[in-house]
Amino acid sequence: MTESSEDGRIAAVPTEYGGITFRSRLEADWAQTLNGARIKWRYEPVTITLPSECVYIPGFWLPEIGVWLEVKGPNVPRIEKAAELARVRTCCCERECTCRWPGGELVIAGRQSFPSDGLEPGRRPPAGYVAWDTPVGPSAYYMTCPSCDRAQWITMRRPWRCRACRAVVEGRTVLYRSADRPLRFVEGLPTGWEPPHMYAQRDVEEDQEYDPAGPDDWRA
Ligand SMILES: [Zn+2]
Ligand SMILES: [Zn+2]
Repeated sequence: MTESSEDGRIAAVPTEYGGITFRSRLEADWAQTLNGARIKWRYEPVTITLPSECVYIPGFWLPEIGVWLEVKGPNVPRIEKAAELARVRTCCCERECTCRWPGGELVIAGRQSFPSDGLEPGRRPPAGYVAWDTPVGPSAYYMTCPSCDRAQWITMRRPWRCRACRAVVEGRTVLYRSADRPLRFVEGLPTGWEPPHMYAQRDVEEDQEYDPAGPDDWRA
């Protein structure tokens, strides 16, 4: 099994995780990463007809924080549908925002992880860090709400509020850019995973609790 084709692009390989078949391994890894951060998610819950009449099935909906997450690898720079969704679902309130989620619904693009700086003891496989951007509009910052403790992405539209509990968070928490690498990316299987090869490389002592039936425990 390999995901790298000859030109180095990453093909989408359907991957099962938690009883759901994702369109790509990258999506399955994102699902695990969201679980690790205790962010609730739904996978492809709706089909949306955009104003342009494009039919769009966003990858993930994060219901507690009102965020759409479209997972795209590094070779998919253009995500017009996600950008259109972001434009039509963002806040249009003239004065104080009364949207269900502060600032309206937010769309972020989930990218392939930043790699770790080499092998780190006790981690297998070497996990990277979450990488994201926004398909259009202001940048999204990762933070943990000091009031409700929910991890989430917000924009710096003032006042900075938790998207879940609406608490004002400015001055009470740290906002991280993607490049700050605040969040471990949980990867179920290393790229090009092949069982015999992998088992041969494993550190026996370290892997005693490893259950080959389930990648779920590969938490960062
Ligand atoms: Zn609003
Ligand atoms: Zn909160």
